[in-house]
Amino acid sequence: MHRRQLLTFILASTTLALPLGASAALVRDARLWRSSDKLRVVFDLSGPVQFKTFTLQAPDRLIVDVAGAQLSGDLSHLNLAGTSVRAIRSGPFGHGDTRIVFDLKAPMQASAFLLGPQSGQGHRLVLDLMQPGVAAAAPAVAARAPEPVAQEAEKPVASSNFHPKRDIVVVVDPGHGGKDPGAIGGKGEREKDVVLSIAQLLARRLKREKGYTVHLVRNDDFYVPLRKRVDFARQRNADMFISVHADAAPRLTASGASVFALSENGATSATARMMADRENGADLIGAASLLNLKDKDPMLANVIIDMSMNATIASSLELGHTVLGSLADITTLHQKRVEQAGFAVLKSPDVPSILVETGFISNASDAQRLVTARHQQAVADRLFAGINTYFEKHPPSGSFVAWAQEQKAQQTA
Ligand SMILES: [Zn+2]
Repeated sequence: MHRRQLLTFILASTTLALPLGASAALVRDARLWRSSDKLRVVFDLSGPVQFKTFTLQAPDRLIVDVAGAQLSGDLSHLNLAGTSVRAIRSGPFGHGDTRIVFDLKAPMQASAFLLGPQSGQGHRLVLDLMQPGVAAAAPAVAARAPEPVAQEAEKPVASSNFHPKRDIVVVVDPGHGGKDPGAIGGKGEREKDVVLSIAQLLARRLKREKGYTVHLVRNDDFYVPLRKRVDFARQRNADMFISVHADAAPRLTASGASVFALSENGATSATARMMADRENGADLIGAASLLNLKDKDPMLANVIIDMSMNATIASSLELGHTVLGSLADITTLHQKRVEQAGFAVLKSPDVPSILVETGFISNASDAQRLVTARHQQAVADRLFAGINTYFEKHPPSGSFVAWAQEQKAQQTA
């Protein structure tokens, strides 16, 4: 019951606007100022809020949690070029709260305070980011200066300034390999071979598209432990992780494609759980070991992981939904919605991740198609189309795709 409610909540938060309660505050927009010693981010609010900030290491992040508030604006327009912030992500978490995550290039220290309506400005949350050791502007200072934001000497960063135009980094993970053949078909078709071909074709397609960089976890027939696959994606600062598989089921008539996203709270169906158990296979990993939280209270560590995952799970579900819709053009679907299960290979708290079962190796007609170059190309093309659609809707800050959209918007404005 609890699982279903949570899933419903996550889906509702990503695909539909939640009905606004009378007390829900909105984070409407954000503005950015920078000087030699600090970066100031001002969030425009519909009313007063409660908030907290904290930092996480490996990788360095600053988290801003705004209680009982929803993000109604879009933060992707903020120009982060030349700042110590690599990207800003946001999403709903908990019961109607909003989490904003600053991905940092180096450890930073933060100070934050609220400002009430003044001089035509509404409620604001002001966040200052500084190098560690620099004296922070305390809320008391803000109280003495009646309008520190308006008096801020530095000019706002113009959006027409230099744009970094970085590539979107996609990590493609062909499942299994080497000693682990994965599922095996009636005529000896091997999952590890089929998925390597599809993954290579997907990588080739992504490389052709301007604005993408792609990394293959394996480009040959060798075994990679699950933990290594996750580390691989994080080390390359992946914007998304896609693990490519082909299914097997005792019921030989089972056929079609499915897409899975991580669930921290258990599988959405018995099938999803069974499949996760099978794909996890040889080596299971715990999410806690992925973050350097050993020095923290284990209970607290779990809470932090849970919370920082919720935003990513919501993104993964939307990504999965887009990819599933794209695959429907060329194959039947085994599951008509994105299933959730505890796949070890998807346990990267920072990176939206999906696992695609391209079809059933155990089904004679699926297997027959999956080994042909023509169908492998079609699957790769549809995976690409789904990924591209997702990123056109959610271009990461500072990416070429974001920049290209801004140019287009300016031309039509
Ligand atoms: Zn597999």
